[in-house]
Amino acid sequence: MSEKIWLSSPHMGGNEQQYVQQAFDTNWVAPLGPHVNGFEADIQQYLGGGVEVAAVSAGTAALHLALILSGVEVGDEVICQSLTFSASANPITYQGAIPIFVDSEADTWNLCPQALETAIKDRIAKGKKPKAIIGVHLYGMPYKVEEIHQVAERYDIPVIEDAAEALGSSYKGRYCGTLGSMAILSFNGNKIITTSGGGALVCKTETQKQKAVFLATQARDQAPHYQHSHIGYNYRMSNICAGIGRGQMEVLNDRVAQRRAMHDFYVELFKDNERICVFSEPNKDYFCNHWLTAVLTDSYETREKIRLELETKNIESRPIWKPMHLQPVFKDAPYYGGKVAEDIFNRGLCLPSGSNLTDSDRERIREGLVVD
Ligand SMILES: *Cc1c(COP(=O)(O)O)cnc(C)c1O
Repeated sequence: MSEKIWLSSPHMGGNEQQYVQQAFDTNWVAPLGPHVNGFEADIQQYLGGGVEVAAVSAGTAALHLALILSGVEVGDEVICQSLTFSASANPITYQGAIPIFVDSEADTWNLCPQALETAIKDRIAKGKKPKAIIGVHLYGMPYKVEEIHQVAERYDIPVIEDAAEALGSSYKGRYCGTLGSMAILSFNGNKIITTSGGGALVCKTETQKQKAVFLATQARDQAPHYQHSHIGYNYRMSNICAGIGRGQMEVLNDRVAQRRAMHDFYVELFKDNERICVFSEPNKDYFCNHWLTAVLTDSYETREKIRLELETKNIESRPIWKPMHLQPVFKDAPYYGGKVAEDIFNRGLCLPSGSNLTDSDRERIREGLVVD
């Protein structure tokens, strides 16, 4: 059997070990240290636009902190895109709040502005204005930024960007992660760059960042002894992981170019195939990092045929995220919209998209993808 071709695997740049070695040499083997500060500065500089960055242990932790900073409390309602990874919604429940799921639109596969407005109006009519909206840039594709933000502003509700999959993507030249009231990034092992595990909260002010770091380090008041007036979390990123992150930031633009080249490869491969549509930017305002290249097939059966055929050739592919409103764990949560997300889930497939795939991998993928 030939070696497995993965959907997305870690791809080191070369300098990561040097940064990690430095951490060992100076004994900064701790959940803070110079690499954590350096990594935050690297991300801040990359994103531009006057943001502040707090590096934490996971994207999920960053989203939890973003909800706390947005004032989400027990019994509050938070709107969340249904078509996403469960980590977009789970932190809502960590706060004892209620997720309200909303359908996608077909252009970006992200929040549908009309369904979003219907949801907001109905929740207000039922007695509660949602505290926040979580918009996801799925597979690196920016959501309909202007439409979504217009709706959110009309009702004065903050938008938290789940940019876990979208580092390096932009809308009208502005990076995902800088567009909402706050944003989160993920450096999990399968993301466009990785710290082996990690995430970041992107916020707007130094005060917000300080509050996030305070909560992420067990909420210790200023005192010689351990004194607490808030419930804290152990969410800070370690100096070792941040060292890996510093090396990865040096190659982020290369990784974006390589992922986009994989997308081009599939566009070319399927250009004459009427049964398969490669998920692509709706227009030039959108710049997608193409973290994963996804395709929409003409039916569930075609999708499954391709997936199972690839599996026999030891090539990984995966259905689109199963919408949250269809997940057993969220079966009681309110949902607004139609069947766009469900249809994308039924017919969509993610294909191997790693920045480290070789010409011979691409040849195997080409041969494995016989669609007739
Ligand atoms: C990966 C991911 C997360 C969570 O990030 P972790 O670092 O794995 O906790 C959140 N949302 C989306 C859409 C993701 O893909």
